[in-house]
Amino acid sequence: MAEDFSLENLPYGSVRRKSGAPPRLCVALGSNAVELAALADRLPGVPRELVDAPNLDRLLATDASTWSSLRAALQAALADGAPHEACAPLERAIPCLPFTVGDYVDFYSSLEHATNLGRMFRPDSEPLLPNWRHLPVGYHGRSGTVVVSGTPIRRPVGQRPGAGGPTWGPSRRLDLELELAYVIGGPPNALGEPIPIEHARERIFGFLLLNDWSARDIQAWEYQPLGPFLGKSFATSLSPWVVPLAALEPSRVRSPPQHPEPLEYLRGDEPWGLDVELEVALQPGGQAPHTISRTNARELYWTPVQQLVHASSNGATVRPGDLFASGTISGPERGSQGSMIELTWNGERPLRLDGTSRTFLEDGDTITITGWSPAGDPERRIGFGAVRGTILGV
Ligand code: MN
Repeated sequence: MAEDFSLENLPYGSVRRKSGAPPRLCVALGSNAVELAALADRLPGVPRELVDAPNLDRLLATDASTWSSLRAALQAALADGAPHEACAPLERAIPCLPFTVGDYVDFYSSLEHATNLGRMFRPDSEPLLPNWRHLPVGYHGRSGTVVVSGTPIRRPVGQRPGAGGPTWGPSRRLDLELELAYVIGGPPNALGEPIPIEHARERIFGFLLLNDWSARDIQAWEYQPLGPFLGKSFATSLSPWVVPLAALEPSRVRSPPQHPEPLEYLRGDEPWGLDVELEVALQPGGQAPHTISRTNARELYWTPVQQLVHASSNGATVRPGDLFASGTISGPERGSQGSMIELTWNGERPLRLDGTSRTFLEDGDTITITGWSPAGDPERRIGFGAVRGTILGV
């Protein structure tokens, strides 16, 4: 099997070589994290402070031409392998958040996911609300609780709905959401000046995997009329490695046709679907992992550039480090849905695992999301690594 982190991929991350060591900006190559500061002398024309850094923050604050020069310099410097002193084995390196997360927005861009949830919660009406095909629906989330892969997730406590009124206690319907996310870079647009669709690409630095943990009972009770709040804000997990947009050029495909045609500001000609294979594995405590979902990001209805353009269309600034997530990615077939609530149809059809079953997540369960793009060539796949989290009881 082709490995995730080839020279054509070269994703960026921030790792500690050992517990207590400071976080350092790295790229992943093969089975190593390669510290960029140790390569500084081999990167002609690259300002030292961009690579001698704890994470991606300084690089995100530059611009697309700087990202492209650095990537070319790194590929040249690493063409014959990485120097030993720059390498830390990935299996021992401790991942940190790759950048300081700014504003966090989560969308609802999968037609299948929005349709499934509409059918479950509003069985007597049209599954899609009237706005859904006209704009990428989203909400502003809580950036301060975005955590890196491997961080344990404490089961949230809150108000749960019931026939006799709400009760207070641990969520009984804890779920995951399989999502693809991207991080913004480049000079911010001024307040009051929307980002036009032809400039959106220059603001997208790269992509990651994201698990938008969701407490469905808390969410169902609190969400009307202002949308997701405590059922979502307790934790969001992010994969450690940012795959540069440049590495995903061969993975770009036409996204599904949009009917009706969106308003003028959301129209563009470029292919912005991303051919990224995605898998979710559930591992009950002390047992083997089971793959519970397989899908692909290419069928997402609303594209990353449409999400970005819409988010700034009212004149809101979008700044380096802002995080945009796709929304749960679900396919049309059984077993291709990106959440437990869909996979078990609101808990009515439990998932059968070896000797046990699940409707929602239990304490001790580990969820691992992996992703990779075939990039038109199975020997040179572009891997995202994994985002993993284990549920702790309260
Ligand atoms: Mn979500």
